[in-house]
Amino acid sequence: MPAKLNLALCVGPLADDGYHPLTTIFQAVSLHDELIAQPAAPGEISVAMSGEGTDSVAVDDSNLAVRAARLLADSYGDERFGVRLTVKKSIPVAGGMAGGSADAAAALLACSVLWDLDIDPEELREYGAQLGSDVPFALMGGTAIGTGRGDKLVPVLSRGSHHWVLAFADTGLSTPAVYRHFDQLQPDGCDLEMPTELINALATGDSEELARHLRNDLAAAAIDLQPSLQATIDAGLECGALAAIVSGSGPTVAFLCRNEEAAVALSVALSAEDVARAVRRVVGPVAGARLLSGGCPGVRAARRTRRPGVRLAGRSQDSRRQDAGLG
Ligand code: ATP
Repeated sequence: MPAKLNLALCVGPLADDGYHPLTTIFQAVSLHDELIAQPAAPGEISVAMSGEGTDSVAVDDSNLAVRAARLLADSYGDERFGVRLTVKKSIPVAGGMAGGSADAAAALLACSVLWDLDIDPEELREYGAQLGSDVPFALMGGTAIGTGRGDKLVPVLSRGSHHWVLAFADTGLSTPAVYRHFDQLQPDGCDLEMPTELINALATGDSEELARHLRNDLAAAAIDLQPSLQATIDAGLECGALAAIVSGSGPTVAFLCRNEEAAVALSVALSAEDVARAVRRVVGPVAGARLLSGGCPGVRAARRTRRPGVRLAGRSQDSRRQDAGLG
């Protein structure tokens, strides 16, 4: 499952429900966590994690992958469901790239297959929205405009591939802390206008045009909380990036490059500077959460349906499986 960048992140004023209304353009990029789901004893839902930054992630019931599996198990009310999840992380934790949401998306998809649930992609995204605003996009992938809390998605036409260089920071930033600081800096929020020039640039596939229209309203707050980000941004721009954006609530910085060659040159130059913990080259857009190998005999006796009273789509199972990329 892929990480995301926000090519535009327009943040409105804090609403009474405690959330900020957003207009955002997501792009999924080729930095992936991997999740394996194996059958486990009835009622057992567990996760083990390895890789990038996992020392700081709890593997108890608060883990987003566990919460995703539990949400499905509870919704279907079958006590025989169990799963042992293993996550290999490459997406930086608390890096503004929605790594936790990607793991939740993967757990939803994997458990729906393992437990042979009667569920289609749209329903899976509805479950995702209950877990976090970025989860529906992690399932969908590609490039999309998100409104509401960022969970109401419409795909956006994006031609070609864009080459990005990511600079990971030494320490993460808490998303709620960045939003709180944003509220102090911008008590009235920013405007939520549709980023039409950016959408037009995506349709042309022209990275130079895209570079002119990137926007992140949280950038000032993130840089205020982690001032070293400014040196990272400056170094990337001096080394030839077309543009720099703080990714989501930060602290990862994403540099847009003219082409693959420019991205290779920038990643080499940036690695030589002492401005990032690690540097990675990625492309976008890429697909959302996908099953790499599948079909597990776990709980396959009969296709499970949700508890009564919950809507199910009326299409054939085959078409649902095709939509989910389960083939
Ligand atoms: P956001 O999606 O809010 O922008 P982020 O991308 O900055 O978040 P994440 O890596 O998603 O950061 O982690 C946010 C928080 O979620 C961290 O404090 C982390 O401990 C917690 N968390 C829970 N489960 C996971 C998981 N499976 N992977 C990463 N973080 C997790």
